[in-house]
Amino acid sequence: MQIERAVCVRVRDGLHARPATQFVKLAKSFQSDIEIVRDGQGVNAKSSVKLMLLGIKENDELVLRASGEDAATAMDALSRFMETPDAGLDVGAPDAHASAAPSQETRPPKPSLSEEPRGIPASEGTALGPVHHFFHDPLKVERRQVHPDQIEAEILRYEEAVARTALVLAEERKRADLKPEDLQIINALIDVAHDAELVGQVKGRIGSGEDAVYATLAAGDDLARSFEAMSDPYIRARAEDIRGITRNVALTLLGRREATLADVAEGAIIVAEEISAWDFAKAPIGRIAGLLCTKGSSTSHIAIMARTHGLPAVLGYPGSVEALRRAKTAAIDGHTGEVVLDPSEWVVATFRARIDKEAEARAQLARYSHMEPRTRDGTLIEVAANLGSLSEIDAALKAGAMGVGLFRTELLFMERKVLPTEDEQADIYTELARAFAPHPVIVRTLDIGGDKPIAGIDFPEEANPFLGWRGIRMCLDRLDIFRPQLKALLRAATVGNIKIMVPMISDVSELKAVKALLDECRMELRNQGIPYGDAELGVMMETPAAALGADELAAEADFFSIGTNDLTQYIMAADRLNARLVNLNRADHPAVMKAIDLICQAAKGGGIWVGICGEAAAREDLIPEFVRMGVTELSMSPASIPRAKKRIIEL
Ligand code: PEP
Ligand code: MG
Repeated sequence: MQIERAVCVRVRDGLHARPATQFVKLAKSFQSDIEIVRDGQGVNAKSSVKLMLLGIKENDELVLRASGEDAATAMDALSRFMETPDAGLDVGAPDAHASAAPSQETRPPKPSLSEEPRGIPASEGTALGPVHHFFHDPLKVERRQVHPDQIEAEILRYEEAVARTALVLAEERKRADLKPEDLQIINALIDVAHDAELVGQVKGRIGSGEDAVYATLAAGDDLARSFEAMSDPYIRARAEDIRGITRNVALTLLGRREATLADVAEGAIIVAEEISAWDFAKAPIGRIAGLLCTKGSSTSHIAIMARTHGLPAVLGYPGSVEALRRAKTAAIDGHTGEVVLDPSEWVVATFRARIDKEAEARAQLARYSHMEPRTRDGTLIEVAANLGSLSEIDAALKAGAMGVGLFRTELLFMERKVLPTEDEQADIYTELARAFAPHPVIVRTLDIGGDKPIAGIDFPEEANPFLGWRGIRMCLDRLDIFRPQLKALLRAATVGNIKIMVPMISDVSELKAVKALLDECRMELRNQGIPYGDAELGVMMETPAAALGADELAAEADFFSIGTNDLTQYIMAADRLNARLVNLNRADHPAVMKAIDLICQAAKGGGIWVGICGEAAAREDLIPEFVRMGVTELSMSPASIPRAKKRIIEL
């Protein structure tokens, strides 16, 4: 069966690297041949390389073509992807503690410390130390003519080298110190190694008589150049991945190994022309003080990785490679792009002063992060984190989160083509619970509606999705989705600190239905011989009905957590996404504050605790009022935690 469908691309900023990779992953999950047709030309949709080179932009009109048995399902999923603004994007909050990409505009003017040229500031922070040279000497390869009889064997040799290269990378994924971002990059490299376009070009060259090593490097170089010619900096930066991968495949074919960063001395600055994500993934990151490269930009994978690990980095350094090769020590400032090779005593002293100042600022923050947030009268207010994925755990712990006050589970469901299984969810919730134990971890059950469709759930067209079939309403109708989530949560509850929270409750019968379902899930787990634990059940207070009926809910619930974002939009009847209504969408409006007070009084009457997990929880001006009303937990994005703790301590 062949199907064609015209789509208009709604993916925000188009199909740059990350959405393109996700789109290809989705395409590959179908048996059908899939093509993207633009201007009458069809391109294999299972090749990220090809797809990125198409440079698909937001609002582009394309035709998707699928032929095969699962063409219809593929078409639905792929066109939905193209029409979803956040598709393939990491919508989680950025790591509050990872270095940021310093912006040129906000860069404070600093006197230049040397006549040496500046590089691109790619990851904040100052570093000073001995240089670790990491220069790959060029692979000089002579083209060898392959006899037609040998072509098949040569292709086989190439395929084996690709498989071995991918295997070495796959081994890297097992390293304990890998961050989720590193894992994503390693996966992207493995994808490039197997990419249909790259593999096709290499095989084509071998087919015309080139030897495998030459063909691999030449095809890699060709493709990398096409990437370098693209206007999108994210796509341009992918040239490094192609060069890195093809070089490694060529070395494997030659039976050689690449120099590694494994023997970097403590506190060294790695100086190189470029550092591939491949090399960096294998480096002892804890020993590295900073990175200085002549190539790369703030959107290179290496820059992203440096920021994730909080490592100062200057990339795209325009100075001479020879000077870098001669340098013994270096000072770099990842905020300004300044670089001083073999710095004088005066420069060393200046950089030391900068490093000390940065450390002091960090220490100040850390001091608040880990203080116990007690008011002057001794009341402890727990300050927890709002998270959307496991990759944010470290940032939350560093910021001093006393557990998780809201884990939004939507991301787990939105990023996939198929719904996550009970086992997968149990692993994720268990990891989360262990990371914060003994502090509580409040997981909100799936809160999704027609405004954020997910593959695997057919949402009806609704005139008012925010007032529609969403959150608990959808879950209670789709027990095939809800039951596995509840069972996974009960399984993770063996850690001892999981609490379950239900969103969009407007009637006590919904809460009672969840309780009954939890009883059934416990019974099923018992019958299956699967261990499970106890978990408190709370209500996310975010509808006017819940606020007005809070007394009745308090009699059934173990705790309340006020979702001020939705509570405000529903109390004020003002769509929270409508920019024209910002003046109405105020959590500090007396009507909203009255509703919050009502909820707090009901919690007190019912003998349960109450927290706030909407954005208002972090508002310094409202915290005193919330505490006065009886709120004992505030949950917010990790970056806001130290400031909130300071505010509480001052009360
Ligand atoms: C809220 O509604 O206040 C809330 C925290 O949930 P979300 O923003 O995910 O709707
Ligand atoms: Mg909400």
